[in-house]
Amino acid sequence: MIGSLLHKIFGSKNERELKKLQPIVDRINSLELEVRSLSDEGLQAKTGIFRERIGKGEALDDVLPEAFAVVREASVRTLRMRHFDVQLIGGIVLHQGKIAEMKTGEGKTLAATLPAYLNALTGRGVHVVTVNDYLARRDTEWMGAIYRFLGLSVGTIVHGLDDLQRQQAYRADITYGTNNEFGFDYLRDNMKFSRQSMVQRDPYYAIVDEVDSILIDEARTPLIISGPVEHAANQVYEEMKPRVIKLKANQDRLVHSILDEAMKRLDQDDAGDQTVEMLLKVKRGDPKNPRFLDLVAKYPGLKKGIERLEGQLSTQKLLPEIDQDLFCFIEENNNIVELTEKGLQLIYGGRSDDYIVPDLDEEFQKIDENDALDATEKKIQRQKAEAGYQDASERFHATRQLIKAYWLFNRDVQYVVKDGQVIIVDEFTGRMMPGRRWSDGLHQAVEAKEGVKVAEENQTLATITFQNYFRMYEKLAGMTGTADTEAPEFKKIYGLDVLVIPTNEPMIRIDNSDVIYKTEAEKFRAVVEEIRALHKKGQPVLVGTISIDKSEKLSRMLEKTKIPHEVLNAKNHEREAEIVAKAGQKGRVTISTNMAGRGTDIVLGEGVKELGGLHIIGTERHESRRVDNQLRGRSGRQGDEGSSRFYLSLEDDLLRIFGGERMSSIMERLGMEEGEPIEHGMISKAIENAQKKVEAHNFEIRKHLLEYDDVMNQQREVIYRQRRESLSGQSLRPTVEEMITELAEGIVNRFCGKDALPDEWDMRGIQEAVFNQFGLRFVMEESKLDELTREGLSALLTETAMKAYDAKETTFGADEFRQLERMVMLQVVDNLWKEHLLAMDHLKEGIGLRGYGQQDPLVVYKREGFDMFGELIERIKEETVRFLFRVQIARPEEIAAKEKVKQEKISYSHGGDGGKTPVRRAEKKVGRNEPCPCGSGKKYKKCCGK
Ligand code: ADP
Ligand code: MG
Repeated sequence: MIGSLLHKIFGSKNERELKKLQPIVDRINSLELEVRSLSDEGLQAKTGIFRERIGKGEALDDVLPEAFAVVREASVRTLRMRHFDVQLIGGIVLHQGKIAEMKTGEGKTLAATLPAYLNALTGRGVHVVTVNDYLARRDTEWMGAIYRFLGLSVGTIVHGLDDLQRQQAYRADITYGTNNEFGFDYLRDNMKFSRQSMVQRDPYYAIVDEVDSILIDEARTPLIISGPVEHAANQVYEEMKPRVIKLKANQDRLVHSILDEAMKRLDQDDAGDQTVEMLLKVKRGDPKNPRFLDLVAKYPGLKKGIERLEGQLSTQKLLPEIDQDLFCFIEENNNIVELTEKGLQLIYGGRSDDYIVPDLDEEFQKIDENDALDATEKKIQRQKAEAGYQDASERFHATRQLIKAYWLFNRDVQYVVKDGQVIIVDEFTGRMMPGRRWSDGLHQAVEAKEGVKVAEENQTLATITFQNYFRMYEKLAGMTGTADTEAPEFKKIYGLDVLVIPTNEPMIRIDNSDVIYKTEAEKFRAVVEEIRALHKKGQPVLVGTISIDKSEKLSRMLEKTKIPHEVLNAKNHEREAEIVAKAGQKGRVTISTNMAGRGTDIVLGEGVKELGGLHIIGTERHESRRVDNQLRGRSGRQGDEGSSRFYLSLEDDLLRIFGGERMSSIMERLGMEEGEPIEHGMISKAIENAQKKVEAHNFEIRKHLLEYDDVMNQQREVIYRQRRESLSGQSLRPTVEEMITELAEGIVNRFCGKDALPDEWDMRGIQEAVFNQFGLRFVMEESKLDELTREGLSALLTETAMKAYDAKETTFGADEFRQLERMVMLQVVDNLWKEHLLAMDHLKEGIGLRGYGQQDPLVVYKREGFDMFGELIERIKEETVRFLFRVQIARPEEIAAKEKVKQEKISYSHGGDGGKTPVRRAEKKVGRNEPCPCGSGKKYKKCCGK
């Protein structure tokens, strides 16, 4: 009762909205005669006139009636189709940035030409989004006749185009293309290294066809671009493995003896400084030593003591004295692993030249200054030095990862080995996570340790959901035959209103009530029976299934009964369209999944009208009413005859899982016999309720996902904006200067206590930090120190750095240096962002699984994500400045070459492997001589930080 009352109110609201548009429609119609009297040239000249008026500031809304009248006339002259009034209404609704629900076959393709033309007059590019390449091509061709007649250009974006072709298509006034292509182009553009190579313009206005498909069904899985981690040599893991085993054996012996000694002391009640120091040595030498862990678990006080000592020594920079006895040390919390002198000696022995990572800058300088070499020889020498450097740093990186693998990772705890593969075990749930990989070479190291094949690695480079892609458009509109059931979702998530537009001719399709059987077998027998009967009289039948499996099953049954038929399987859109297009011909039987061949026009064959038109059979109810309506909508186009019926069984998923008590009790009451179907409105109602429940549930899931994605989305916007800024051609010098100032302040704040006197300042710390950050030796006379304030020191530091920066700029020349700033900034942003993406992935996974007490995981995710993003920004600053202060020779062509190689290996995906992103933890800050976080094994300064 209340439902139907609400429906009335809702229905009338829709009507009220439509009524408001009627005057505009009247106005367009009143212009028809005038427009018709124009010559072709006169009609075409309108485009220029409109453009001028809009250029002078006239609102699109004011130009709309005339523009629509012109498009309608152009359509009559080119395609022999005159837009119906309902199509004008549809066009207005689309122009207003809403969703037009227009039933299948009502001519949405043509309706879209009206707002596409009008909005393209601004010169900003209109995108019409289709669900597949076939439709993008079809609609460009078909509707292109109108646009071209009126002097507008049209482009198509489909799979397989190169950048130049894409640029051209995007420069057109109106561009047709698929959602995937639009989305990937956006991501690809934001990985480019120059403005000129970007293909898209700023997103302005998009009309999304089959909008429910794209914004609801496909919204759940993000678009992902992934590429291999730059790993040159996997065999270095094998090569270094025996050495690390030797290292481990030596370290174990050492740690055991220290631990024995410490235990002895503890037995004698000696927990003094020396004992604690010994235990600290054990901790740093083998943090997961079982005896050690037992011990500290038993004596929490001892643990505290060890940690306190470690903290103390760390601030006093005395940890090396503890570590020097060890072969290597490990700081688990900080994810730091380092070989000591002793360890280096053991591992590299007499052949240290092969292994010690040389300082390439020095090498280069030596070569350059060697007058005995001519230019070619110098070049060869440089290459040699570089190759040697690469090899050595790869070994070095592999060694560190192997140490982690041997010291920190235990088989059957953090991972298992199964079928020759190392599979990560989730630390919170204990579940295996096949397909996931640790990044940065760690997975390879564990593989080497376990003696299984060392594999290559892939990682996410960029990702976005359709939701967030389409929300970037200034104006978004959509059209579909089935939006109304999802109206609240469109409103809530996209801010899109849905308007239901009446059909041109009254709809006369007969939708029969559902028939319901006890078992699936009975159901399918009944379906075959009905098909046979209709086929005999020549009426075409289109059968929808919910999966390819079911399609094939039905096909086999029809083969047995010798009924000729076509089966579609969502694999080839073009062929699919061809088959579906013929589904309305006399005597045709077509089986397809519900969504297959979407967007294809099914015209009735001769004599079919008289037979009752196209009959639709649904073999199962979908989870969502919308998809059922889709199927039904294939029949009854443009006021055609038609009919539909759904066959169900109690074994269908929807009924089994969601039907619930109510369904059973109805069955009970109606009395259900074997082999006998039930057909009753009450059942249809109950099923509809079940569907509503599932729809609401699915909406919740999508909303939830979106809330998570929103966090990432804001971050992506910031990063991409920064990237675009870097590419804009503006000087980045002011940005760098700001960075320098902030970094200098940061250093002072870190080492000069707020209330500390100048002689309490940690000048050594400052010097180290300054050297690390700016590559500068910052010396100050003691006497001058006393007169300084923190602010003064900070200013002095900034000034020193700025001077050095000026000098850098002078040696390079300002132009080249500007270019360099851009390149460095891009490289740093890209690499750190990539890493951040993985860290965020990991955070999300972790949060879903971790118990957070009473806290909302989303809130935790937001907060931690925010913190991580803050760190990212901080690191971008540090690294950018660090590289710029150390950069020696700029070789942009190498960067370009590298970009090319990267792109060749890139792969694109939507869905499927969304969860397969590798696990990566954020590593601590990366020093210039440390291995690059991108996993290349090279030094940071020689890789991404170049
Ligand atoms: P939809 O996308 O709404 O399902 P289509 O755009 O595929 O519908 O059009 C369905 C059919 O209607 C096409 O055969 C098209 O030629 C026809 N059609 C659309 N508009 C008109 C019109 N104004 N006059 C005549 N035929 C039309
Ligand atoms: Mg269509």
